[in-house]
Amino acid sequence: MAGMSPTLIVGNWKMNLGVRESYDLARQIAPACEGLQKTSVWVAPSCLSVPAVAKVFRDSAVEVGSQNVHWEDRGAYTGEISPTQLREVGGSFALVGHSERRSVCDESIELCARRALGAIRAGIKVIFCIGETRGQRESGQTEQTLTAQLLPFLANVQPSHQPAVIVAYEPVWAIGTGLVASEVEIEESHALIASLCQRYLGDSTTPILYGGSVSPANFEDILRCRGVHGVLVGGASLSATKLTELIAISEGHG
Ligand code: PEP
Repeated sequence: MAGMSPTLIVGNWKMNLGVRESYDLARQIAPACEGLQKTSVWVAPSCLSVPAVAKVFRDSAVEVGSQNVHWEDRGAYTGEISPTQLREVGGSFALVGHSERRSVCDESIELCARRALGAIRAGIKVIFCIGETRGQRESGQTEQTLTAQLLPFLANVQPSHQPAVIVAYEPVWAIGTGLVASEVEIEESHALIASLCQRYLGDSTTPILYGGSVSPANFEDILRCRGVHGVLVGGASLSATKLTELIAISEGHG
């Protein structure tokens, strides 16, 4: 675990919960998010649930965000999520480039970069997700893949927007599979991302999260990896018990 900033735990609830269910889960986890010393908790419910969840966390340090975002504030973009409208309902951040957006919805490298750049211009923090497939790793293309996904975004971030950048390394083969990247795989990828952030943002403090089957059983090991500033959690974040355990592990770490 690098640096002295709080460990960031981000829950990605995907399209799993309705508005009422999201509100109920937020209420269940809220007590565990009070008075944290070493941990920041953010949650990304489906965008329809952002207002209800943001209401629960209105007076807390927990930040609420969306799972995707558009680059324009408004206009003829049917079905998209405006960054300024997200802010209006209490959202402060967005995931961009999640592997399910890239693979299921065919979002290109250029489209993801455009989304992220537009959102940070509009005052939304961006968790920019990148990751290699099993095939890319096995054919020795991990570094090339991560670099290709990240550069069109990083190389175009204005210096004043640099604090709004967070990167999540999520190997595609580890998402929702129960497989976790090894310590070496995590440390190598995080070191690569850190070096790209240093080169293009001139900044070595950009938070870099790991994502892929994080659970209370493996979280301590992941936190021990060099260059890991937090985690992006899918499945385990849908359980108040598991999320509460993750928070307790982070608070007890180090
Ligand atoms: C994710 O969807 O970002 C993710 C990491 O999912 P899971 O924790 O379920 O692997």
